[in-house]
Amino acid sequence: MIETIGTVFRNDEITPGYKKLTLRFVEGISIRAGQFAMLRPRNAYEPLLRRALAVYRADDSRRLSFLYQILGRGTAALACLKPGDQVEALLPLGNPWPVDAAGSSELAVVVAGGVGSASVLMLCEELIDAGVQTEVFFGAASENAAIGCGLDDFRAMQLPLIITTVDGSLGERGLVTTPFSRRLAAIDGSRSRVYSCGPWAMMKAVAEIANEHGAGCLVSLEAPMGCGFGVCVGCVVAVERKEAGEYGAYKRVCVDGPVFAADEIRWDVAGMSH
Ligand SMILES: Cc1cc2nc3c(=O)[nH]c(=O)nc-3n(C[C@H](O)[C@H](O)[C@H](O)COP(=O)(O)OP(=O)(O)OC[C@H]3O[C@@H](n4cnc5c(N)ncnc54)[C@H](O)[C@@H]3O)c2cc1C
Repeated sequence: MIETIGTVFRNDEITPGYKKLTLRFVEGISIRAGQFAMLRPRNAYEPLLRRALAVYRADDSRRLSFLYQILGRGTAALACLKPGDQVEALLPLGNPWPVDAAGSSELAVVVAGGVGSASVLMLCEELIDAGVQTEVFFGAASENAAIGCGLDDFRAMQLPLIITTVDGSLGERGLVTTPFSRRLAAIDGSRSRVYSCGPWAMMKAVAEIANEHGAGCLVSLEAPMGCGFGVCVGCVVAVERKEAGEYGAYKRVCVDGPVFAADEIRWDVAGMSH
């Protein structure tokens, strides 16, 4: 983990409400899929705390991109950045998706919900590089949200891609868990490994469906967090007692995650603000 300054190279709107921020760094930063950064505009009074964003793309070790949805003060401040502006960054943070553990005989099923897509684009690229057969289930609220969440980048990978939107404006109408559940029922779940990032309720459902079909399931959690390096303990989630860590029945998403085995999480106990 290093604390450094990134210089804005681009900060483009993808669709209304969604932007992609590309930062240049003086030093090379080694990033694995699933890791994240804590970012805030340099010398800003607001927000005081950096915000967590997954590394969406690493063009090279000195140029990293972040895809984000403009939600509140932190992401609104990032949205105002212009080329040449500076950003305070703490990175790389968190554990990566474990790609090498997936055998080549396995099917990787990636389930992305909303801007959770940002955590899994590089994962898909790593799975392709590792020769793992991969399918993607991509859910969003609408066509605008799907495009904003990087759908075109997922399409470009040419993997089997199932799209759902809640309003039916693109792909199948409804929740992404519906076609995901159909697919797991149609294949040998025990030879599949599920990777999922998205809203808590979606990941809870994904974990249940995977468990029902005997598929291993990994999730990347998006708990609101203060520091990003394990000190504030603001991002804890309840875990099964057998998985207890330093904080007993809780683990910190920032340093113990964000990637967890789904069966480690107490889905019945809501995280901080889920
Ligand atoms: C490891 C990790 C990776 C993340 N990666 C991305 C990413 O790549 N792109 C992206 O757009 N977002 C990502 N997030 C979520 C992002 O950090 C929050 O949306 C962001 O902090 C919101 O800050 P804000 O000041 O704009 O909104 P706030 O004013 O802090 O919050 C606005 C609303 O969003 C809710 N909220 C805030 N943080 C979260 C959160 N972490 N999860 C769910 N709800 C939240 C609040 O309760 C409130 O309702 C990630 C979070 C984590 C922990």
